[in-house]
Amino acid sequence: MTKPVPTLTLNDGHTIPQLGFGVFKVDPDETTRIVRDALDVGYRHIDTAAIYGNEAGVGTALAESGIARDELFITTKLWNDRQGTETAFAAFDESLDKLGLDYVDLYLIHWPTPAKDTYVESWKALEKIRESGRARSIGVSNFLVPHLQRLLQETDIVPAVNQIELHPAHQQLDVTALARENGVQIEAWGPLGQGKYPLFETQVIVAAAEQHGKTPAQVVIRWHLQTGNIVFPKSNRRERMIENFDVLDFELTPTEVTMISALERAGRVGGHPNDIN
Ligand code: NAD
Repeated sequence: MTKPVPTLTLNDGHTIPQLGFGVFKVDPDETTRIVRDALDVGYRHIDTAAIYGNEAGVGTALAESGIARDELFITTKLWNDRQGTETAFAAFDESLDKLGLDYVDLYLIHWPTPAKDTYVESWKALEKIRESGRARSIGVSNFLVPHLQRLLQETDIVPAVNQIELHPAHQQLDVTALARENGVQIEAWGPLGQGKYPLFETQVIVAAAEQHGKTPAQVVIRWHLQTGNIVFPKSNRRERMIENFDVLDFELTPTEVTMISALERAGRVGGHPNDIN
């Protein structure tokens, strides 16, 4: 029997499956088929966003699956141009409507957009949304140290998560340290380097894969799980969905984890949070 997906407890008491499935760049027309496949493979945690344009397709797949709502963990995100108070409330309503849900498990501010200076106000709107019960947990994404510090100083609720670009060559150690000191769980986006960073040819990862009879992608996902990150690798292909989910039956040694962690070299592949406004 396959082992269950491990869960982590958020600072508000809710639990989150540590391994999920992301749908960035999944074509809206294909989303229902792809999310149906992911649910069929066993994923129960789906990460989408308003800007992905595929919330409706996710919602259709969830509804058709017949899986009980309390077995699912669904995240979506507030896009940058809707930051503010009333705009955030309206954007949230639209997302829930597209997803066809009464509540989401997690609602995130997608980027801090520091040049606009609206993330504190937007966070206060998310606090109200959480109070309404329509988002069980709230969090942020792409927040750097100064952005997190401001929320900690100026608002009431500590974010449940910070979803940031994170893979072995880009670990954002300053952000993860501050987050973890304050009980903020780390979600790693681009956990496989988005297929752009050459992780799968890196010697220590290849060696660990050979050692365990696994693929380099599975080793990288395992490294995330063992270092405490929440991950939701994306693939349109069912065989890769299966591969990325098949990581619960082996464990990297502490030495392997340390050697993979030593690959850090600020290898960002996505945009810089200060530049996206
Ligand atoms: P990822 O690191 O999961 O890479 C996905 C790509 O890796 C795939 O398109 C495929 O090319 C390749 N891949 C997947 N499985 C593989 C395997 N087993 N073997 C070889 N190659 C494989 O990158 P991602 O999709 O950008 O990140 C995962 C999720 O994170 C997204 O789908 C989305 O939900 C979220 N995300 C959030 C933000 C944000 O700003 N908050 C930004 C990007 C992504």
